[in-house]
Amino acid sequence: TISIEHASKSFGSTEVLKDISLDVKDGEFLVLLGSSGCGKSTLLNIIAGLEPIADGEIRLDGEVVNDVHPKNRDIAMVFQSYALYPNMTVERNIAFGLEMRRISKAERKAAVREVASMLQIEHLLARKPAQLSGGQRQRVAMGRALVRRPKIFLFDEPLSNLDAKLRGEMRTEIKKLHQTLKATMVYVTHDQIEAMTLADRIAIMKDGIIQQIGTPQEIYSKPANMYVAGFVGAPP
Ligand code: ATP
Ligand code: MG
Repeated sequence: TISIEHASKSFGSTEVLKDISLDVKDGEFLVLLGSSGCGKSTLLNIIAGLEPIADGEIRLDGEVVNDVHPKNRDIAMVFQSYALYPNMTVERNIAFGLEMRRISKAERKAAVREVASMLQIEHLLARKPAQLSGGQRQRVAMGRALVRRPKIFLFDEPLSNLDAKLRGEMRTEIKKLHQTLKATMVYVTHDQIEAMTLADRIAIMKDGIIQQIGTPQEIYSKPANMYVAGFVGAPP
């Protein structure tokens, strides 16, 4: 369980997250939906520990982790930009997170194979990121997150660089992965369709405030305000 309690975050004099409280249940797929600049990435970053918070508490399974280093939170993050190491092969990119943890070479190899087979990128293991398509890079980025078997996955607009067809395919795969792994996933997007198809619950954000949180049906049929109605295209 992820619990955020009264979290606030400012950059300089700009308050980017305003007293946010949010619970994500074990195994839940929560989508954070909102327009550019509303604070979605910042919220993910504070869960991952990449940004400190000024006020409030972040708990993972009840434990306060405000001062816990990102490496010691059982979380993997997948970014829009993939963030792959350009000089490493696909295999090494995926294995890298395991190398840091003193896992034996044989075990690493086996783990990479398993994940690569899951993502259908076994034939790409010897390549460098520059030799891959956007969709393939995104799979490698997913592989790198998956191989560590974390309890929590955070996705920051992972599909926004892909064309519509590939986006649809990857969406289906992410949904399948969620069902297989039964992991807790928080997925940031500004795409309403993506939110509606993936989410157990959607949190709609605007200007650093969560406007409404609920199932796609609840949000569509009972939008809390005009902004939410407009954003998801529901009748007000
Ligand atoms: P997008 O959909 O464009 O990715 P977002 O919802 O993820 O937007 P954030 O990246 O969380 O938005 O940014 C929220 C606000 O905080 C923006 O106004 C942004 O300019 C500001 N901001 C984000 N990171 C920093 C930073 N490191 N320093 C200063 N301001 C920042
Ligand atoms: Mg963002």
